[in-house]
Amino acid sequence: MSQICCKCGKSEEEEKIVDGFCLSCYKAEFPLITSFYEKKFNLTACKLCGDLMFHSKWHEVHDDPKETVLKILNEFLKKTKKETDAKVVLIEDFEEPSFDVASKQNLKILFEGTTNEQVPPYQQETNLDFIVNIGVCERCAKFTRGYFESIVQVRSDRRIINNDEQLMITKLVQEMKDKRAETGDRMAYITKVVDQSKGGVDLYVGHEKFAKIIAASLADNLAASTEYSTKLKSHKDGKPIYQSSYCIRLPYFEISDVVSYLKNNYQIVGIRQGRAALMHLKTRELKTLAAKESHPDYLKVLKKKDQLKKFIIVALQSPNVSVMNEVTFETIDIDDSAIFKDHKDGDEILMVELPDGLFECKKI
Ligand SMILES: [Zn+2]
Ligand SMILES: [Zn+2]
Repeated sequence: MSQICCKCGKSEEEEKIVDGFCLSCYKAEFPLITSFYEKKFNLTACKLCGDLMFHSKWHEVHDDPKETVLKILNEFLKKTKKETDAKVVLIEDFEEPSFDVASKQNLKILFEGTTNEQVPPYQQETNLDFIVNIGVCERCAKFTRGYFESIVQVRSDRRIINNDEQLMITKLVQEMKDKRAETGDRMAYITKVVDQSKGGVDLYVGHEKFAKIIAASLADNLAASTEYSTKLKSHKDGKPIYQSSYCIRLPYFEISDVVSYLKNNYQIVGIRQGRAALMHLKTRELKTLAAKESHPDYLKVLKKKDQLKKFIIVALQSPNVSVMNEVTFETIDIDDSAIFKDHKDGDEILMVELPDGLFECKKI
């Protein structure tokens, strides 16, 4: 006996009948999804930074807010009960949510799959309300209140912080901020920078962990030492709240200074990643110290860079050379091994005066 669809009366000859329904009626009778994980897709946007919150978790928005919405929506759809093999095949384009005013729009989502192996896959279009409320994320709330957990202080020993170091500090801090942001560390912010005008910089940092990273990186890159201290700031819900500080102390020596290292005299020609590069004043040999040795315990300053003196080469007569002090006009004859090769009469050179004589230094 021929079967007919119990809903529309179509016969088996007209369309395949499965479980008493023709295929067209079957789709309507057995939807792929009956309800979403939640009736509405609710997000909160931070009016200050534009980040989005779903179920009390904040998601970072980078260049494209829609991309973040889709990422969260997929999480939402994953939690939606579906027939086993039904999957989302299309999410129709939608409006970019506003961060200034609450908004509501309708998302159209297309699912595909089947609930019965005798029925070929079919599609189901569903509508989902997408609501965006406006708020302020905790980070922006803390940031605007000036909240910080830690202070990183950069100081220098008996000297001002030089321009290269200033630039290095700014560059390193920016790099670390970007790197932390990539890992989704939302508290990696600096709420305030107090420039002590060459006497140092104070960075007020959002959270302890980030302060620690900044401190370590500055110390490593600037051959500095670090002191850590902590003090009780307040109590919250009976718990003590501590405020930590890191003092990064830049060494007395800096690039261009003349130092003694293991009883030999050198000029510091560079400091990179906390390692001092030295030039031997007599042999001109270059060497780079390990970070551990690029430290005031090993490097004693003999002359600061501003104590180096300018001379003019008056007469080169190997093995001697006459040089004239640019300030006192005093002329001295010295061994020409004290100056670099390839000089000619009239050249201006930089020299350091040490107990064992004059030695040319690099102009850095
Ligand atoms: Zn039917
Ligand atoms: Zn925010």
